[in-house]
Amino acid sequence: MGDTANPAYQAFAELVVTDVVFGQVRIRSEDSRFVLCHDADSLKNPEQLKAVDPTALRTLSQNTAVGAYRPIKAAPDLIDGWRFVASGANALGEALDRLYPGAIADWFALQSDDPPITHYRQYTNRQTGMYRITTMLDDAQAAGMIRACCDARFCLKRRHWTVDGLAADPPETKSLIPCLEPCAVLLEFARRTVRMNQEPKSNLELSKSELATIAEALESSSESPTPGDRVADFNSPRNPRRVQLLKERISQALASLREEPEE
Ligand code: SF4
Repeated sequence: MGDTANPAYQAFAELVVTDVVFGQVRIRSEDSRFVLCHDADSLKNPEQLKAVDPTALRTLSQNTAVGAYRPIKAAPDLIDGWRFVASGANALGEALDRLYPGAIADWFALQSDDPPITHYRQYTNRQTGMYRITTMLDDAQAAGMIRACCDARFCLKRRHWTVDGLAADPPETKSLIPCLEPCAVLLEFARRTVRMNQEPKSNLELSKSELATIAEALESSSESPTPGDRVADFNSPRNPRRVQLLKERISQALASLREEPEE
């Protein structure tokens, strides 16, 4: 790339006065350079980290430490242990684009007076084919699905789009990386949620204690995900987002029984 500064890269570089965390990457301004590393490594000495080149950054973003593919690059499982030195604003922007594709452009777009945000209804109303059914979730169902899909355990992008009844993510949550419209993973999760809602329902009745047992089991399951699970495989009953969605339903059912006296 030539010396002409990309406006988005330049604006972002100006934000890094001393240091900034973008997603899971800590960026330090040192003289006219920028030093990047995983935020978890920010207290380590440079010699403890592997110096990487721009090509390696793209490779780093592809898989988790256990080799699972990362369909959402802003998932909080970026590999640590590396260090990259960017020679200026463009090199910094290009490096971040390799780790978080499109994130700097989205961050820059968000600084405009009229950011290009596409809300859930706008987005799903223009879907065709197999994704057309994503319009069928009512607002409460869509909100539950979105909370589960975009939870900070799964994605660090700060959601700026909304559906009625669910506000955007508050400024202090997640990270500086904005989410300006639903992503492909969310769209697929919405489709699967519609399909699950359409399945025949059991009339199994559960007591408060039984619901509490299920809630605990789901909590344990989310704390120890099975290595190798594909995070976007929504056909898997143990999919972490499916577990998160069910956790919320169980928690609501428990809350509705909370007023009942205990024996
Ligand atoms: S839609 Fe949700 S999961 Fe997808 S990128 Fe945005 S915040 Fe992340």
